[in-house]
Amino acid sequence: IDSTATVADPAARDGVVATIAERVAAVRAGFAAGVTRPLAWRREQLRAVERMLRENHEELERAIFSDLGKPPVEGYMTELGPVLTEVKILLKNLEKWTRPKRVPFMPTLWSRGFIQREPLGTVLVIAPWNYPVDLLFMPAVGAIAAGDAVVLKPSELAPATSEVLARLVPQYLDPRAFAVIEGGVAETTELLDLAWDHIFYTGNGTVGRIVMAAAAKHLTPVTLELGGKSPVWIDPSADIAKAAQWLTWGKFLNTGQTCVAPDYVMTTREMQPKLVAALKTEIANFYGNDPRSNPDYGRIVNERHAARLAALIDGAEIALGGEVDVQTRYVAPTLLVDVEMTDPVMQEEIFGPVLPIVPVAGIDAAIARINAGDKPLALYVFSQSDGPVEAILDRTSSGSVAINASMIQLGVDTLPFGGVGGSGMGSYHGEKSIEIFSHNRSVLKKAPGPNPAAMTFPPYTPKKEKLL
Ligand code: NAD
Repeated sequence: IDSTATVADPAARDGVVATIAERVAAVRAGFAAGVTRPLAWRREQLRAVERMLRENHEELERAIFSDLGKPPVEGYMTELGPVLTEVKILLKNLEKWTRPKRVPFMPTLWSRGFIQREPLGTVLVIAPWNYPVDLLFMPAVGAIAAGDAVVLKPSELAPATSEVLARLVPQYLDPRAFAVIEGGVAETTELLDLAWDHIFYTGNGTVGRIVMAAAAKHLTPVTLELGGKSPVWIDPSADIAKAAQWLTWGKFLNTGQTCVAPDYVMTTREMQPKLVAALKTEIANFYGNDPRSNPDYGRIVNERHAARLAALIDGAEIALGGEVDVQTRYVAPTLLVDVEMTDPVMQEEIFGPVLPIVPVAGIDAAIARINAGDKPLALYVFSQSDGPVEAILDRTSSGSVAINASMIQLGVDTLPFGGVGGSGMGSYHGEKSIEIFSHNRSVLKKAPGPNPAAMTFPPYTPKKEKLL
C-alpha cells in the first residue's frame, strides 16, 4: 500500500493541485451543457477510445513494460484487448441498454410508466498501477456509454503509462467532457474534496475507506473495487494437472500482481506433494528453468514491494523459487509448503508470485478458514465431484467463484465483476457498467380518461371508506 508516493517535483505538484478544481469545473460545465447526452456523441467517444488504443498500442505496451516489466503480448492481452472488447459490446448494445424500459399499464391509476436510465453527471475514476490501462478505461467506457463526463486519475506508481494516457486522451476524446489528472496522494486528496456524482475507485481497502469517507461528505455514491486474499480449495477429487495449469497462469501472470490472483491454496496433507509436483511441471512449461531471463516473466512494480515479498517468504518452507533481487525487482515463481494460518504470508494479500499451500483436514476446515477472513474478491474450487462445489457455494460468500478455472470469470461481460464486504462494493462490466453510472428514474404518465385515484382524495365520505 503506497499512501505517501506523489509527483516527485513539489513545485510541479503544487502547480497541478492548484488547477484541479478549475479543470474539473470545466468538465462539469460540459456535462451541464448537455454535451454527453446524445447517443451519437457517446458512440463517437467510444470509437475514439478504440482508435486511441489501436493507433498507440505499441507506445502503450512499451509504457506498461517500463512500469511493470509486463511482456507486450501480455499487455495487449490483459489490458488493451479487454477494453477493446468491452467497447465493442457497449457499442453493440448501447441503444438497448440505455433506452427507457416500459412497465405494465397500471389500471388502478389509469397510468403508464417507464424507467428512464439517465446519466449521473460528472464521475471520477481512480485507478491502481497493476493494470494501469485496463482499470482506468474499463470503468471509463461504461461511464461514457451511460452519458457521463469523466475525470480520470491514473496511478502514479505506473508513471510511464500515466504520462502516455495524459497526453493521448486530449488528442482523442472530447476535452469538454474528459480530463486526466495525474498525480498521487496530494492530487487525489484534492479531487476527493470536490463534489462528484459518482466515484469509481479500484485499489486497496485502506484507501477505499478514505475514498468512501470523502464521498460521504457530499453523499456521493461509490463503487469500490478492492482486493484481499482470494483462496483456492483443491479437492481430493480434483484433476491435479489441470488445476496446476490454471493456478500457474493465475498466480504468475503479471507476476502475481492481479486482484483476483489465487492468493493461497488449501488442500489435504496427502494432496500437497502431488500438487507441488504438478505445479513445478507447469511453472517449467510456462517459464522454463530460468524465469529471470525469460521475456515472458514480468517484474514487481517497485523495490518496496519486492522487499515486502522477500520479508513475507523469509523463514518459510520453500518448495520452489524463493530468489528475490530487490534492485531489479525480480521475484522468482515461488511455492511455499506446510504453511500455517499464523505465518506472515497469510496475514496480508500477497500480490506477488508466491503461492503458499496450506494443508487442512478437509473441506470443512477450508470453509471455516474462508469464513474467518474478509469476504474474498474471488474464490476458486477445483473438484471433479459436485458435493464440494455445492458446499463452497452454499456456505461461503465472495465477489465471484470460478470452478475448475482461475481468473477468467472477470473476462465475461454477462457476469458482473466486483467484491463484497472487505473486497468492495458494486460491480461492473457489460450492462452493469451502464447501470452503475446511471440513475434509474421512475416516470409515471397519467393516461387520458378516468381517474381512479380520485377515490382516495378527500373528503373521505362513508361511501369511499367502504370501497377501500
Ligand atoms: P495504488 O497505490 O496505485 O492506489 C490506487 C489509487 O489510489 C491510485 O490512483 C493512488 O493515487 C490513489 N491513492 C493512493 N493513496 C491515496 C490516499 N492516501 N488518498 C487518496 N488516494 C490515494 O494501488 P494499490 O492500492 O496498491 O493497488 C493494489 C490493490 O488494489 C490490491 O489490494 C488489489 O487487490 C486491488 N485491486 C483491485 C482490483 C479490483 O478490480 N477489485 C483490481 C486491481 C487491484
